Amino acid sequence: MDDLNDLYQDIILSHNKRPKNEGILEPCDCQAEGYNPLCGDRITVYVRQNESLLEKVQFLGEGCAISRASASMMTSQVVGLDQEAAEAKIAEVVALLLQEEEPEVDLAVHGDLAALLGVRKFPARIKCATLAWHALGAALRGEGKHEA
Ligand code: ZN
Repeated sequence: MDDLNDLYQDIILSHNKRPKNEGILEPCDCQAEGYNPLCGDRITVYVRQNESLLEKVQFLGEGCAISRASASMMTSQVVGLDQEAAEAKIAEVVALLLQEEEPEVDLAVHGDLAALLGVRKFPARIKCATLAWHALGAALRGEGKHEA
């Protein structure tokens, strides 16, 4: 984290300290646990759906600041989307984190996600950043569990 620029680091740390949508969601329509053995991060994602819309998305997780910040951002960004749009968002974020070509990151365009994309500089931590997104995808597909 030391080389992550200060602004990005502040965003990550503040999400970690005061995550959005943290806690078990009951009742929920689907949930999935993501586990990242490289770092020990464990994140469970809960989704309540209204028709096809993601009405509420929460998470409960223990792990590093990046994994928790990522979950906090994820839950805020996908709520209100329909399942197809949520899957597209997952694919977009995972691609931005994994694609070889350096994405153009703009705080004005990507919001807090820009900070998450800063993790690209630390390949060992990318799975921390994708974990909650993969867990959401697994929940939506009814797969329950996901290993990073
Ligand atoms: Zn981690």
